[in-house]
Amino acid sequence: MKNKPILYVVVPCYNEEEVIEETTKQLKNKMEKLIADNKISNKSKVMYVNDGSKDNTWKKIKEIHKKEKYFTGVSLSRNRGHQNALLGGLMTAKKYADVVISMDADLQDDINAMDEMLKKYSEGKDIVYGVRSSRKKDTFFKRFTAQGFYKVMKFLGVDCVYNHADYRLTSKRVLEEFENFKEVNLFLRGMFPLVGFESDVVYYERKERFAGESKYPLKKMLNFAWDGITSFSTKPLRFICLLGFIILFVSIGIMIYSLVRHLTGNTVSGWTFLSISIWFIGGLQMISIGIIGEYIGKMYNETKQRPRFIISENLEEK
Ligand code: UDP
Ligand code: MG
Repeated sequence: MKNKPILYVVVPCYNEEEVIEETTKQLKNKMEKLIADNKISNKSKVMYVNDGSKDNTWKKIKEIHKKEKYFTGVSLSRNRGHQNALLGGLMTAKKYADVVISMDADLQDDINAMDEMLKKYSEGKDIVYGVRSSRKKDTFFKRFTAQGFYKVMKFLGVDCVYNHADYRLTSKRVLEEFENFKEVNLFLRGMFPLVGFESDVVYYERKERFAGESKYPLKKMLNFAWDGITSFSTKPLRFICLLGFIILFVSIGIMIYSLVRHLTGNTVSGWTFLSISIWFIGGLQMISIGIIGEYIGKMYNETKQRPRFIISENLEEK
C-alpha cells in the first residue's frame, strides 16, 4: 500500500470568473477532508491553469493562492484551448505530485468521485477514468452528438473509454511516460489508453454547469471531434481505397451492360466507349488516391514519434 500520496488536482480555466469561487469552496472542503482522513499528504494542492482568460480569472486565481494553503496556479501565455491547457497543467503538476486528477472548472463532474479514484489508486491502479453514468442533465443535442461521436470512434478502431471526458486520475509514472507522446494535435482522452498500465473506471452523475456558459460552442466541439478522428485513425484513407475497388467492380457491370446495349444496337455511336471509360478510370483513380493515402497515413504516424513501447516493471531494477 502506497503511503499518503501527494495529490494535485489540475483544473483548466478559461473565462471562469463566475464559477471559480464556488469551485474553490467545494474543492477546499474536499481537500481538507481527504487530508484529515489521511488519504492524501498535506502537501497536496489544487492547481488552476489559466488558459489565457480575458476576464478576471487569473486575478482571482492569484488571490485564492494568497489566501488558501492548498491552492496554486499557472497561467498560459495565451488561450490555447482546453486540451493544451490541461496538458500544460498535468506536465507542471507531475513535478510535485505522486498522483494527479484532472477536472473541469464548472463542477459538472462530481468531485465526490475523487474518493473512489484515490481508493483505486491505492489498490494499485495507474489510471482511473471518470465515466458519466448518465447524461440526463445534458441537452438532447449534446447527448446525441457526444454519444454518436464515441460510436464513430469505436467503429474507426480508436481505443477510447465510452462516455469518459477528461475527469481522470493518473499516477506520476503514467505522466512521465506521457511526456514521450510528442504529438501536437491533442486528444488526451484517446492518448491515455495508449500509455497502458492497469486502469479502472469510476462512475458518476454529470451535473449541470454551476454558472456561466459552455466554453465549448458547437464549432469548437466539431473541431475537437474531427481532431479526435483524424489524429487517431487512418481508416478514412483506407475507405477511399475501398471505394475505388467498389467502383472498379461496378464498372465491370457497366461494361457488360454497355456491351449488351451496343450489340443490340440501342445506342448512339461512342456511348459505349465513353460510359465504360468513365467508370473504369474513376475506379482506378480512386484506388490510386487510396494507395497514396496509405503511404501518407504511414508517414503521418511516423512523424508523431509516439513511443514504441513502455516498460511497466523491470525485475533487474528491483
Ligand atoms: N476551457 C479551457 N480553454 C478553452 C475552453 C475551455 O481551458 O479554450 C476549460 C473550461 O474553463 C472548463 C473546461 O475547459 O474548465 C471544459 O469547458 P466547458 O465546461 O465549457 O465544456 P463543456 O462541459 O460544455 O463540454
Ligand atoms: Mg462543462
